[in-house]
Amino acid sequence: MYQLRPKPLAADVRASFLQKLEAWAQEFGGSWVPVKDDSQVLYFKGDAPQSALLALQQWPEVIAVVSENAPPFTVSEIANKRVVVQEAMFGAGAASIIAGPCSVEDYDSMLSIAQKLSNLGVRALRAGAFKPRTSPYAFQGLEEKGLEILSAVSKENGMAVVTEVLDPRDIEIVSQHAHMLQIGSRNMSNSALLKEVGQAGMPVLLKRGMASTIKEFLYAAEYVAVGGCEDILLCERGLRHFDPEVRNILDLSAVAILKQKTGLPVIVDPSHGTGRADIVPSMMCAAAAAGADGFLVEVHDKPQEAWSDANQAMSVDNFAQTLPRLDAVLSAFEKTFNPLLTK
Ligand code: PEP
Ligand code: MN
Repeated sequence: MYQLRPKPLAADVRASFLQKLEAWAQEFGGSWVPVKDDSQVLYFKGDAPQSALLALQQWPEVIAVVSENAPPFTVSEIANKRVVVQEAMFGAGAASIIAGPCSVEDYDSMLSIAQKLSNLGVRALRAGAFKPRTSPYAFQGLEEKGLEILSAVSKENGMAVVTEVLDPRDIEIVSQHAHMLQIGSRNMSNSALLKEVGQAGMPVLLKRGMASTIKEFLYAAEYVAVGGCEDILLCERGLRHFDPEVRNILDLSAVAILKQKTGLPVIVDPSHGTGRADIVPSMMCAAAAAGADGFLVEVHDKPQEAWSDANQAMSVDNFAQTLPRLDAVLSAFEKTFNPLLTK
């Protein structure tokens, strides 16, 4: 199975391009399958020689051909679908940052954090309104009120909202306020939620389960893809392990492996990935060197007063000081910090 991303084409150019593709596919006894009728992503079902794929890459209408040839990921056993996030969101040669507090707490603190992050070039604001807490007695999030705060604050600052959805019944309301739906670590294996979220017509940020293999992670992404979602971001957020020195152990090898195995953008969350604000900057730089396409980080105005995950929240100042370091690492890999993430 191969995934192909054509350029945005005028209707008549697209029609003749599709005809040309069809003729190409027939030569190898295969066929092209768009995810949706007007999709910017096509899948080739069949076998084509490497030389033919390389030639396809040279067509002027084509952005990229991504091949998947490492079983068991070759062909989705679920729906023969593979996915890609729009170039504009996490394009080649750029890395984006999604930042904000763990939870939405109140309007004033959310606004203050958003303003400061926006001034630093961050275009995507994160914060949980529905919180997946380990303890039922811990703060569960402001729910709908939190969503309203998030969307008001993001509009004021021209930022996109990335927030978690915990329950299929909340997808509609969360979609009204968010630009990207987050599926958290604890829900990565919730196939019912994954299927529903895939049909929401929204980009999806999928976090790796805290004890999930890469294979399980990719299958979860396929569940989301089955619904027709083309915009999936994979997020490594650390794994359960034995050393209490860190909350989780950040698996940066997963970044390199996921980049090899999929055409999907891979981002890293070193906040949950370590649980320690003091080492988040180093892990962001390491993730950049490992090939991450972006970062999800927890940043708070007053980290010690955060209602959840206080130990891992960076102060705005620390975050600001990290950006030049990160930029230096990114530029060594000929990447830039890309503030692009708009609806
Ligand atoms: C979060 O990003 O708010 C979160 C709860 O993370 P995770 O699902 O990775 O624990
Ligand atoms: Mn958190």
